[in-house]
Amino acid sequence: LLEKIGDIALIGLAVMGQNLILNMNDHGFTVVAFNRTVEKVDKFLANEAKGTKVIGAKSLEDMVSKLKKPRRVMLLVKAGPAVDDFIQKLVPLLEKGDIIIDGGNSEYRDSNRRSRELAEKGLLFVGSGVSGGEDGARYGPSLMPGGAEQAWPHIKDIFQSISAKVGKEPCCDWVGPEGAGHFVKMVHNGIEYGDMQLICEAYNLMKDALGMNQDEMANVLDEWNKGELNSFLIEISRDILKFKDSDGKYLLEKIRDTAGQKGTGKWTAISALEYGVPVSLIAEAVFARCLSSLQEERIQASKQLKGPDTSKYTGDKKAFLNDIKDALYASKIVSYAQGFMLMREAAKEFGWKLNFGGIALMWRGGCIIRSVFLGDIKKAFDKSPDLSNLLLDDFFKNAIHKCQTSWRKVVATAVTLGIPTPAFSTALAFYDGYRSARLPANFIQAQRDYFGAHTYELLDKPGTFIHTNWTGHG
Ligand code: NAP
Repeated sequence: LLEKIGDIALIGLAVMGQNLILNMNDHGFTVVAFNRTVEKVDKFLANEAKGTKVIGAKSLEDMVSKLKKPRRVMLLVKAGPAVDDFIQKLVPLLEKGDIIIDGGNSEYRDSNRRSRELAEKGLLFVGSGVSGGEDGARYGPSLMPGGAEQAWPHIKDIFQSISAKVGKEPCCDWVGPEGAGHFVKMVHNGIEYGDMQLICEAYNLMKDALGMNQDEMANVLDEWNKGELNSFLIEISRDILKFKDSDGKYLLEKIRDTAGQKGTGKWTAISALEYGVPVSLIAEAVFARCLSSLQEERIQASKQLKGPDTSKYTGDKKAFLNDIKDALYASKIVSYAQGFMLMREAAKEFGWKLNFGGIALMWRGGCIIRSVFLGDIKKAFDKSPDLSNLLLDDFFKNAIHKCQTSWRKVVATAVTLGIPTPAFSTALAFYDGYRSARLPANFIQAQRDYFGAHTYELLDKPGTFIHTNWTGHG
């Protein structure tokens, strides 16, 4: 009789899978490892997993036979058809109540579908966001599991043991039903795009408007990192600015200015359009990457399209640096407010109950967007779990009020000097739109009715739709 000793099986021995296995092993769990290319199992056991309790499997049948019940099988394979392939092969080997966890970067719609398909077969599907890259996976990722809630008591211990911690609190909690975990991970990645773009805009202003050198900029980020902007991304940005190549020159200056993307920022922006939520900052951050990738065109255009005479700021440099910091902070608040608006709308759309404070805590440590700021967001949701918008929380409201003069000055200065700040600017435009009791959309309604008889409502007769013959012609 085979001894069933495996606490969990993990399929996919690329970097993420290997590191998660070693992390689970460190926390006392016995992991059964498997991979499509089976030779990699032995290689892993002989090298990275040498001296651990990790058990290798020669086939899926072998793997399943070594697991305690209910069986827990986690996939860390390339997102897309590979996940469906493995699920299809696993289904006949598993029993009712067994759990399949997909820890890859799957699209939330796929997780919605897999969740339903497996539920019909009596299996419990969990789609979990995993953030923090290789290091996170090895020493403490942020984990965002969602799907069949009956699975949670069976995986909670493993997940919360291996996740990052802030103090004693694990950066992992149950997110919600179906693809909620992957949806939240997608928004996390979108927010990451926004945060990165905001830092780039601050850098551009320091470089072009203030003519600062990289050591000076690194010192500024070091200062910022001591306050409300304290975060992993500010920290690594400081280190990148300081980094010199073997020839003693700054490496950053030599890097081609075309940004890559894998698609999760784009998915966030597409969801925002789909659900009608103005997540403008993340969308601008995606577009900024698209614009950056048109390098050839930009070089041509730079020779023909004129800007202002100077891009140099001539005022008080120190004061302007402080303005940039405030603009970054205020824009960041708007970006997170928009991200949470999107999650709230998706929750409505799919009938999910999302735990917003828990989400802030999951992002507080372990992942790329980890920051002190997320602790403040957690506090806001702890204070009022039904908070309709982060901007309306007292802490963030006061912060924006304090920053707004600087924020406006930075955007106005950037416009005057011809330095692009799409994320700072769109955040401010959103803020001004959101705080407008009246917007010029009455004009849009009139235009729509004029040319397309789309009808409009009168302010004093809501619900009644009227068409006017604007030209007086029959
Ligand atoms: P990856 O390069 O995305 O995928 C490699 C793994 O997938 C290998 O185990 C490979 O098996 C398997 N695989 C690929 N195509 C397959 C197919 N058609 N059928 C069966 N298996 C297939 O690995 P990764 O970078 O470790 O990432 C794993 C997952 O985590 C991905 O969804 C990724 O997006 C996500 N993720 C990655 C990071 C990161 O920082 N890298 C962070 C968070 C999340 P073979 O060895 O047989 O080729």
